[in-house]
Amino acid sequence: MVESKGLVGFEFENWSQTYSCSPELFFLPRNVEELREIVLSAKANRKKVRIVGCGHSPSDLMCTNDYMVSLRYFNNVLKIDENRCLVKVEAGITLTELNCHLRNHNLALSILGSISEVTIGGAICTATHGSGIKFNVLSNYVQELELITSSGDCIKCSRSEKIDLFLSSLCGLGAIGIIINVTMKCEPSFLLYQSIYPSTLDEVLTELNDHIQSSDHFRFLWFPHTDYTSVWHTSRIYNKAITKPNKFESIYNWIIDYAIGYYSLEFCYWVSTFFPQLVPFINRLFFHILYNRNRERVDVSDNVFTFECLFRQYVNEWSIPRRYINASNIHAHFPVEVRFVKADDIYLSPAYGRDSCYINVIMYRPYGKHVDKDEYWNNYEQIMRECGGRPHWAKAHTVTAVDFVKMYPYFRAWALVRKRIDPLNMFGNAYLDRVFETFPPD
Ligand SMILES: Cc1cc2nc3c(=O)[nH]c(=O)nc-3n(C[C@H](O)[C@H](O)[C@H](O)COP(=O)(O)OP(=O)(O)OC[C@H]3O[C@@H](n4cnc5c(N)ncnc54)[C@H](O)[C@@H]3O)c2cc1C
Repeated sequence: MVESKGLVGFEFENWSQTYSCSPELFFLPRNVEELREIVLSAKANRKKVRIVGCGHSPSDLMCTNDYMVSLRYFNNVLKIDENRCLVKVEAGITLTELNCHLRNHNLALSILGSISEVTIGGAICTATHGSGIKFNVLSNYVQELELITSSGDCIKCSRSEKIDLFLSSLCGLGAIGIIINVTMKCEPSFLLYQSIYPSTLDEVLTELNDHIQSSDHFRFLWFPHTDYTSVWHTSRIYNKAITKPNKFESIYNWIIDYAIGYYSLEFCYWVSTFFPQLVPFINRLFFHILYNRNRERVDVSDNVFTFECLFRQYVNEWSIPRRYINASNIHAHFPVEVRFVKADDIYLSPAYGRDSCYINVIMYRPYGKHVDKDEYWNNYEQIMRECGGRPHWAKAHTVTAVDFVKMYPYFRAWALVRKRIDPLNMFGNAYLDRVFETFPPD
């Protein structure tokens, strides 16, 4: 019995240590048969099942007190077609592992989020995105996927087969079924040239359209309480070699990026938990130390796409105008990260039907300490709603179905697919219950 292999007493905590749960049983299946047995056992015992990837979602999206299942052993590459730039992988593979396999076959993903320590299943279920107005959320590069449903059936879907199910599963929040493998569209491996330079918010906003169009993966970081921004232009390059810093530059970069940019910053923000009025000063100081210079590099794509996200943090991602922060008692940590994503047709993708601008706000938790963020988050979400915003599904938000039906033309369609494929609500959890509590009648 697979049930007997489920671990008792497993305590789960997400990466930022902001959410936790105590699943009754924690499973690490090694193959599809074992996975199916878990589903059937859950069905017989009326238990909920939740898949956990790397646990990087800054919310309780992956939490359950029933059966938690990790697909850590589902991390194989099943098929690579170099000519058609396609790779079929098991859903528990991390992007770090996948990038490595792809490099060996001269392929690469067209886009990545800020970190690669996430599973492809988790990234797809939450429509993880990077930046680049001509590039979609990661889910949109999926050509086909296979799911285990709550009845234990294995179903394949794509744009040409069960398209409803496919478009629901691509940002399925773990609620449609267990994704066991996906086929991703890649591109021939490529180098990226990145140029980072300091600017002002006024300049970036005035020239925003030019910035967005003038490189493949434009983004900028704004330092709250200041007018400073750090502008990041990143594009494919075919006539330059990888830049390798010499020994002196490597040591210098380590001192700036880690000794100061990580350890000193964490200490300073910790001090500011006692004296919040220091935050504007800290933001200004660290901008000058870390970002007030030009930096250039050429490297393989996955090295350039990812970004040092520093220490544990609370995160929220919609969009917010600068004037609000300046006019309040909120002391906001840096950066506010602004990115751009091409429109898609995935039912629950925040970029559904419109080219989108994502604005990510952050409050660090120095040494794991709680930092008050509620006023910042509440006001921020209110403004985001007024701007027609949609929250990132992986991140903590307070939006429920009564608003989601207005935000997403296909929210009801998604809910219907979910009901049809999971009539017992086996893949539900507290996060989804909160969202559906207010589901309005037709
Ligand atoms: C430091 C940091 C940086 C980040 N940067 C970005 C970024 O740049 N862009 C962005 O968009 N997001 C970003 N995120 C959010 C992150 O990409 C998502 O939270 C992603 O879902 C994490 O993947 P995971 O493997 O940890 O999944 P988890 O957090 O473990 O799970 C996420 C959801 O996916 C479901 N799930 C996972 N695997 C499966 C499966 N095989 N079948 C069915 N359901 C499944 C889970 O049940 C859960 O609902 C960042 C998060 C952190 C902490």
